[in-house]
Amino acid sequence: MDCTKCDRDAVMHAAYSGAHLCEGHLFESVERRVRRRVREDGMLPDDATPDDPDTWVVGLSGGKDSVVLTDILHETFADDPRVELVALTIHEGIEGYRDESLAACEELTDERDIRHEVVTYADEFDVEMDDVAEDDPLDMAPCAYCGVFRRDLLARYAEQYDADKLFTGHNLDDEAETALMNIFEGNVEQVAKHFDASLGPFDERTAKDDMIPRAKPLRDVPEKEVALYAQLRDLPVHMEECPHSSEAFRGEIQDVLLALEENHPGTRHSIMAGYEELASLAADEYGDEDRAVGECEACGAPTTREKCRKCALVDAVNAV
Ligand code: SF4
Ligand code: ZN
Repeated sequence: MDCTKCDRDAVMHAAYSGAHLCEGHLFESVERRVRRRVREDGMLPDDATPDDPDTWVVGLSGGKDSVVLTDILHETFADDPRVELVALTIHEGIEGYRDESLAACEELTDERDIRHEVVTYADEFDVEMDDVAEDDPLDMAPCAYCGVFRRDLLARYAEQYDADKLFTGHNLDDEAETALMNIFEGNVEQVAKHFDASLGPFDERTAKDDMIPRAKPLRDVPEKEVALYAQLRDLPVHMEECPHSSEAFRGEIQDVLLALEENHPGTRHSIMAGYEELASLAADEYGDEDRAVGECEACGAPTTREKCRKCALVDAVNAV
């Protein structure tokens, strides 16, 4: 099959758009969508100058999504003196998984001369995810602890590096799964919070005061295309799955979505288009609710409780 845009051989077929794309046009198409998101989500360094550049922190796990995002941001802005990229890797303490993916992060950032920082759960919380998964003091899935710890460190270190923007590599499939999970759980408040809690389109209404603007520029690109992009560009990517990955509900949603997409191409895109509108309405309803917050007595983070969720989890884990 030929590429829809030229006469080279197609390497992929995007059923949702009908396009067959060759390698070069796949690259172009992925990069265009990422740049458009950066622009449309208001992330361009408009107010920055070479003397006062924007610091962009990008969460880099070594998996395909964050590697592709970091590489495209670097390719696009490396020559722009108004942007300074900092790749931030969070080491959870997962044997046989994170050290290997750290090697991929180092290869990527060394070759491109990108500033790379690594922070660990061990140093920050005196916690290793392998122990958390084994002890599980609150009887939750490991990811329920890990997600809270990771979000805390991303936000805290972005602030420490004086970040002006924070980027993460969620792709279209990730986002559509989260959207459906929130809806199937009937959790409208979580829909509103999806904007900021898990890094959605940046929205003033749900953002806490002085929160760093965040974006997920890969959120229009299906997972399969991100994977193919990484492979054809020969990017250093760590492909293993985390041994504690245990979000059973997400796995089921993933199967449903893939089946729907197969029979009704474009389902993921239409879910996200509708969900963003819903989330915007939900933000009107819930956006102001957690503004009147106090401070965590342990770490000073904003919270409505005595201790923030992260500190409560750290306490529980360290009490074992
Ligand atoms: Fe943490 Fe779960 Fe991701 Fe593993 S899969 S790194 S436990 S959030
Ligand atoms: Zn706290």
